[in-house]
Amino acid sequence: MVQPTRIRLSDGVDIPQIGFGVWQVDNTEAPKAVKAAIEAGYRSIDTAAIYGNEEGVAAGIRAAGVPREQLFITTKLWNERHGAKNAAKALDESLRKLQLDYVDLYLIHWPNPRANLYAETWRALQEIKSSGRARSVGASNFTIPHLERIIGETGIVPPINQIELHPGFQQTALRDFHARHKIVTESWSPLGQGRAVRDPLIAGIAARHGRTPAQVILRWHIQNGLVAVPKSVTPARIVENFDVFNFELTEEDMAKIATLDNSRGRIGPDPDLFT
Ligand code: NAD
Repeated sequence: MVQPTRIRLSDGVDIPQIGFGVWQVDNTEAPKAVKAAIEAGYRSIDTAAIYGNEEGVAAGIRAAGVPREQLFITTKLWNERHGAKNAAKALDESLRKLQLDYVDLYLIHWPNPRANLYAETWRALQEIKSSGRARSVGASNFTIPHLERIIGETGIVPPINQIELHPGFQQTALRDFHARHKIVTESWSPLGQGRAVRDPLIAGIAARHGRTPAQVILRWHIQNGLVAVPKSVTPARIVENFDVFNFELTEEDMAKIATLDNSRGRIGPDPDLFT
């Protein structure tokens, strides 16, 4: 198999470019899905406290039997756990459920601006990182003003921001800001929750390459220098979504997919409003 690529974060930690997303995969399904993903070659798993499946993820990791240090496990701090004291406790709960001593990446799931604690929480995550319970810490769903505020108040630039990003919502302004600050962009809902897979333009490119639409979209994320965490519980799709390291889209393909961007293409919540 062609080696999957990793991206080095500004803090020196390497993250696999394709990870396995487990939102809406419950504790009964997660062990099988995570084991199948690891057997297919994924080394990165993206979960969150709010997904309610950290125990199931732990069971899947154990069943796969791959050494811990080869895995890259991400979990996220939920909105009601913002604040210095809460954050440390929330991570401990996640670690217990995951049966891990440390996660590779701990993200603030949403900025939750109404609580107005995300800058304090960002500071608390630095202590968590120093304690060794997270190798890297970062942001999720932060907009440019949220990033500017935490950078301004703490002087610490998050190495990564996980945001909604798919061909129908390409987030070019935020990605430009990330590039200027050496923040890696991680795409959630990279397949547009399945919608992008049904786009005729993508289907045309896929047919020319003898690939599937999902593979073309994930290749588009990779060639844009993004990290992506597609989700599936279907074994064949789990394999298909990771088999994306041995072909290349042309510049013309990339330019065509760029035309699918729609500033109103957001599927998930607005980070300014979500609590
Ligand atoms: P996704 O874009 O990964 O789409 C998943 C859906 O696409 C599947 O349920 C299935 O219907 C379809 N699909 C998957 N593989 C396919 C294939 N090969 N062919 C055809 N259809 C296929 O959507 P998602 O689950 O919303 O996002 C992925 C991950 O991103 C989540 O599991 C989670 O880990 C993460 N996420 C994070 C946040 C956040 O706030 N940080 C929010 C949403 C999702």
